[in-house]
Amino acid sequence: MTEAWEPDDDDDQRPRGASGPVRVRVPAKVNLHLGVGPLRRDGYHELNTVYHAISIHDELTARRGDTLALTMEGEGAGALALDDTNLVIRAAHALAAYAGVPAHARLHLRKQIPLAGGLAGGSADAAATLVACDALWGTGLSRDELAGIAAGLGSDVPFLIHGGTALGTGRGEAVSPVLARPTSWYWVVALADGGLSTPAAYAELDRLRAAGAAGPPLGSTDALLAALRQRDPRVLAATLGNDLQDAALAMRPSLAATLKAGEAAGALAGIVSGSGPTCVFLAADAADAERIAAELDAAGVCREARVAHGPVAGARIG
Ligand code: ATP
Repeated sequence: MTEAWEPDDDDDQRPRGASGPVRVRVPAKVNLHLGVGPLRRDGYHELNTVYHAISIHDELTARRGDTLALTMEGEGAGALALDDTNLVIRAAHALAAYAGVPAHARLHLRKQIPLAGGLAGGSADAAATLVACDALWGTGLSRDELAGIAAGLGSDVPFLIHGGTALGTGRGEAVSPVLARPTSWYWVVALADGGLSTPAAYAELDRLRAAGAAGPPLGSTDALLAALRQRDPRVLAATLGNDLQDAALAMRPSLAATLKAGEAAGALAGIVSGSGPTCVFLAADAADAERIAAELDAAGVCREARVAHGPVAGARIG
């Protein structure tokens, strides 16, 4: 923890922090491997996952203010509450409490990551808020300290501070970077109408498993990690997997048609992202991704198909 901020009436005399706006971009995540283990006593499932940050970004701008206020535009505007339930507000309070500073800021969120889409948009916004307010308030925490606060806000939040490609264990909050060759992978991201609830998807998986109706669990990440060390998207394609996919398909049967259309369009592989309903497809290269996205749009099997690449950095100023 750093020395506490001391109140000062004169802005220019403040010991540290930014006087102007701080703008932070934060990516969406997909899970290249989402292995769901048994339900723990604390209500979470034990996870063995490989996170991957992709180039669909939310942007959070933080300015000095006398209270804490949030405005937003873009995906989910009008539907998402901007009160204390919003992960942006929760993250600002968590950082302020940790650092012993007043939670005063005017925050504006520009959202491109869909709500409840399985791309961890809310977690991304929480990560962006921690990085932005740390700079605005001059609290000067290390990335590891920020990741520690992040873990209290949600399982995916620490990863979105770091970005890149990383292994997630525990309930997903214990993150370690994956050493991979510096390669860009090209993805087509098929956004769906409406969201799916993450807790409902886990409950559905528990139900399917109890009924013996779920597929076999994914197991180790070894094959995927080995594939990431090569540059061949075909090798990577064969190792993608998501234990929550059966649950998402049971809750949203129309996703089967989306996955089928992506494969018919030439995607090397398609999976449901996280708890869905977004589907992601691995393409051979950037041009192929553009072509597959256009075909998915024309087939009418998703709200919108976007091209993205990964891995990209986590929450960053600029
Ligand atoms: P994950 O992939 O981590 O399961 P998701 O992408 O399916 O998450 P999110 O968009 O992160 O879903 O949001 C899940 C829920 O969190 C939303 O339905 C909303 O009620 C709540 N929420 C709170 N703050 C935010 C925020 N800033 N952006 C999005 N959702 C938020």
